[in-house]
Amino acid sequence: MKKPVIDYDLCIGCGSCVEICPEVFELREEENKVYVIADEKCHTCDCEEAAGVCPVEAISFSEE
Ligand code: SF4
Repeated sequence: MKKPVIDYDLCIGCGSCVEICPEVFELREEENKVYVIADEKCHTCDCEEAAGVCPVEAISFSEE
């Protein structure tokens, strides 16, 4: 199964991915970073689209 992976050196905490996949990504404003809270829920949204809107290309996928 494909799992989204965040590159924390790149993520600027813009929240775009959260708008598209709110069940998968969670913005932690105190850190200004996004966390993958439920990668098994990628089927509920379009994580590929979320990766596509990320302005810094911080979202990639690992096969597991
Ligand atoms: S869209 Fe990219 S930069 Fe914005 S919060 Fe998500 S991973 Fe971070």
